[in-house]
Amino acid sequence: MIQVFKFGGASVKDAPAVKNVATIINKFANCNTVIVVSAMGKTTNKLEEITNAYFYKNTDVLSLIEDLKAFHFEIIENLGFENTDSVFNEIENCFTEIIWATEEENSGNYGYHYDQIVSMGEMLATHIVSAYLNKNGVSNLWLDVRGIIQTDNTYRDAKVDYDVSDTLVKTHLIPAVEKHKLVLLQGFVGGTSENYTTTLGREGSDYTAALIAYFTDAQSVTIWKDVAGVLNADPKYFKNTKKIDELTYHDAIELTYYGATVIHPKTIKPLQNKNITLYVKSFIQPNNAGTVIKESNLRVNIPSYIFKENQILISLQPKDFSFIAEDNLSDIFKIFSKFQIHANMMQNSALSFSVCVNYDELKIKPLIDELQHHFKVLYNHPVQLMTVRNYNNEILSKLSDNKLILLEQRTRHTHQMVMKEAGGI
Ligand code: ASP
Repeated sequence: MIQVFKFGGASVKDAPAVKNVATIINKFANCNTVIVVSAMGKTTNKLEEITNAYFYKNTDVLSLIEDLKAFHFEIIENLGFENTDSVFNEIENCFTEIIWATEEENSGNYGYHYDQIVSMGEMLATHIVSAYLNKNGVSNLWLDVRGIIQTDNTYRDAKVDYDVSDTLVKTHLIPAVEKHKLVLLQGFVGGTSENYTTTLGREGSDYTAALIAYFTDAQSVTIWKDVAGVLNADPKYFKNTKKIDELTYHDAIELTYYGATVIHPKTIKPLQNKNITLYVKSFIQPNNAGTVIKESNLRVNIPSYIFKENQILISLQPKDFSFIAEDNLSDIFKIFSKFQIHANMMQNSALSFSVCVNYDELKIKPLIDELQHHFKVLYNHPVQLMTVRNYNNEILSKLSDNKLILLEQRTRHTHQMVMKEAGGI
């Protein structure tokens, strides 16, 4: 049986963190294990800056690359590698590839260039972790996930070809795990049939881990986090958060769909389909139980809070005499899907459709331009979206104290409100 471990950016953010990951693998990878690793610390953000500097020519690309290179070389030096160790060459080669990608002629396709550059964060991280494990007697194989997870060419949000990836996993990954016991590969990254690199969307490494588990019929996935497990609220915004010991797949999907950032929303479905248990555990206290997500009759009834800042509330009204729902919804959804925008909450009346989405400037400006061709568009930014699962009236009135509620929606278990500070316009 195979198990899958996923280590995110925070778990490999510096040399002591990498050492801690090695200790965890040594102790807990006691059967055939596939290890999915993300880029180190804030590397993905840095690579996004490099992409923007290249694409929009607004900053010096090479000095940004030099900073990122220094960050990675400092880590390998602190891990005790010598200049003669092959990891130095591997990291040097990755940076040569990044430089080449920024010397390529600008095709005008931002997503394409983004994926060629930003994917390198995971390449760097896996080379370093794999080399450190091998140096310390934890023998493992480094694999390039681009030959395992095949996608279409929807850059930055690539769609996985499940049939081809299934075959690739069965022909390349499973035999490698059987032979080497421990295989390391990159999260978040995929490859097209023409060998172009793609990415699966920010925070997509959890999804990679779930896909690998699905295709290998793994017994479990463990996501190692800097928190104790799945909490009922984000400690960044709430005091006295509680860890949830056990969740059903259904509850986990609902929580992540509404924006709980602890697990990527696409992670749970593949696991649910094959009944693969998901553990969310702390890499700081790896012996603690964390949260287990599996099928059961248990219903969590403690309230959970999901708070999203920097939202924009967009309202659309027809310019002609049509009703919004009957005549326009499919066009609206097509436009949202063209700009790869996910609706966090939506509501319609006879003459207007309101939707609350994350404010990503690069996507929202062209979206609004296009919507304005077809509809009268009103918008409100910045607003906040508060989702409460297992709500009660006392909680709701506390949360909305001093806030202006712009839109509200409730089902039996979930209450959502779009709000802004009272006093704002
Ligand atoms: N490194 C990517 C990101 O920061 C993917 C991931 O961490 O899951 O979004």
